[in-house]
Formats: sequence, C-alpha cells, structure tokens
Amino acid sequence: MFWTPDVYILGDGKNHTERRFWSPGIKYQINYFAPIFMMNIIANPIFLEHDTGQHPENRQRLECLNIEEYTEIKVDGEEYLPLVHERAHIQQIRDAAAQGATWIDQDTFVGARSFDVAVAAVGATIMSSTANGFALVRPPGHHAYHDHSSGFCLFNNLAVAVENLRREGKRVFILDFDGHLGDGTSQYFYHSDAVMFWSLHQFPAFPGKGRSNEIGSGKGKGFTINVPLPPGSGDDIFMHAFKNYFPVIEQFEPDVIAISAGFDAHRHDPLLQLNLSSNTFYEIGSMLAGKYSNIFAVLEGGYNTSVLPHCIGNFLAGINKSDLFFDEGHSVSFRTCWEQYDLDLHYGMSCLSPYWKF
Ligand SMILES: [Zn+2]
Repeated sequence: MFWTPDVYILGDGKNHTERRFWSPGIKYQINYFAPIFMMNIIANPIFLEHDTGQHPENRQRLECLNIEEYTEIKVDGEEYLPLVHERAHIQQIRDAAAQGATWIDQDTFVGARSFDVAVAAVGATIMSSTANGFALVRPPGHHAYHDHSSGFCLFNNLAVAVENLRREGKRVFILDFDGHLGDGTSQYFYHSDAVMFWSLHQFPAFPGKGRSNEIGSGKGKGFTINVPLPPGSGDDIFMHAFKNYFPVIEQFEPDVIAISAGFDAHRHDPLLQLNLSSNTFYEIGSMLAGKYSNIFAVLEGGYNTSVLPHCIGNFLAGINKSDLFFDEGHSVSFRTCWEQYDLDLHYGMSCLSPYWKF
C-alpha cells in the first residue's frame, strides 16, 4: 500500500495533495484531498541488486512490497560517505564488491553490485532527508560504524543523512524503533548535543549494548535514550515506553526528526523475540504526525516478508493520518516482562531526569 502524491492549489489558496492509494492484492483506490504533509516513499529497483542469496536480509524484503512506482536516485551517495565513514572503510567495501561475493564480517555479505547499491541507499536517504521521504532501501545501515560494517549494514545511511543536516546547523532527533539497537548510529552521535538518539530495542540481543544507563558522554551526556525491552514485550510495554519518553522530543526542539524504521520487533519476525503487532507502527506514526511535520525515515530491519507489508503500510498510514491499513489487534505482555521493563525504565529515568522532564 503506497501513495503517490500530486500537488494541487485549490481555491482556498492552500496546497493540497491527492492521494492515490493502492495495495497489490487489494485492487482499489481512494482519491481524496488532504493537507500537504505526507511521507512519500523513495524506492528504486537498484536495491534488489544487493544479492545476498538466502541471507535473512535479502531482496524479497523489498519484492514483497510490490512497489509499482520508482523514484530516480538523483543524489550521488558516494560524495556524502566521507561525512561519516573513513576512507579505508569505503575502500574495503569497494574492494570486497570487486571480488564478487564475500563475507565482510560474520553477519554481512557483499556481492558484486553491493558497493553501488549501498551508495545508492545513502543517496536515497539524503533525498528522503530533504523531502519528508521514506527511503525503502537495502542494505540497511544502523549497525554500520564509521570504520567497519556490522549486522548486515555496509554504510550507515541514516547517520550520513543526519550528519549532513547537522553540518547545515540543524538539530536532529533520531528515533530508532527497529527491534535492535542501532549501535553504529548511537556510537557516531554519542558525544553530540546537536543530535539526539532514542532507541527502543530488545535486550539482551544483538549487538549486546543499549542499557538504560548508556545516555551519551561528554557534552552529549543526556542526549542518548536507550529503552531495553525484555524478550516477549508486546504492544502494551512498547507504547508505554514510547509515550513515556515522547515529551523529550519537544524539549530537545529538533529541526528535523529522523527515523530508523525497522520492523523486526514484530511478533512474527524470525530474528528477535519481541511481540509487537503491526498496529503499534500505526500508533507510532500517528503520534509523530500529530505533533511534527519535518520527518524522514529509512528502512532498517524486518525479516518476515509476510508481515513486512502490513508493518510498513501501517506506519505510513499513521504518519500520513490515514485509517489503519491492516488491523491485527494488540498484543499484551506477561507480568514477568513488565517487572523487568519497569526496573529498567525507572533506572533509565533516574539517569536522564537531570536533563529532561517525563
Ligand atoms: Zn533490527
């Protein structure tokens, strides 16, 4: 389900957008007028060319979305890579791709086209950062560090786009709701007070970091929020955490909100043991869109290709102020999950309370 916007100026002098709505398998279309803010997808067939075979992070993650319209990637991502990544790391990925097909770390595969595709993913994310876009790209990026790949990620798409905004003098709030900690992104901005990073993630899980007391350092102390979630955490816990820290966004006074949108916290995802329904992604989008308009997103994880379209569809429906796209009800958490979550939450709040009001 995606929208393609056309902008109209109506008699009231305001911009309006006609939304054409479609979903493969549900062949219908709704035309109506809505306010101009809309998160548009940025997609391109090049992102199918990062050939990883049977790896969980494979081309089916985008094929399952049945995207019908593509966006030309007009930004050369390679020019922006040095904002975050060391030259040696960039060259390592280029050389690995030149070899044809190789593992660059224990989790991350590089094929012959992977360098070009990863560069295009950075370019698409830069584009999304200036156009309220949702870059539906692969490979994902949030585990990639400035000097090495990690966790299926070659270059940190979001970090490059955010660093580009930061150098323009913008204050950026990063929300990472992927079920894993975006450790590469977190590390890169860990010492900064111009970029705030908030992650909700399963703990314990890969990459083994993201405890409540990891709140940044130096002048960046207080500008990182980690919300560890026990395995089994459902919609109730996730939304409790989301609502608890949501007021910090406003206190930070961001110019832009950047979202690492991963969907592997869904209850049917094969890589994690969180228990979210796709409805939660609708609620996240709704809450953000209810208060902010300068938002962009990039796809991170989400490895069940049966539910990924529902998750992305619901997130887009929420953030674009439309009706729920796919209703699968809500999940609840066991008492033992709540108990562990409460301990972690209150510890985190005690660490962050000198800086923010909850
Ligand atoms: Zn993930």
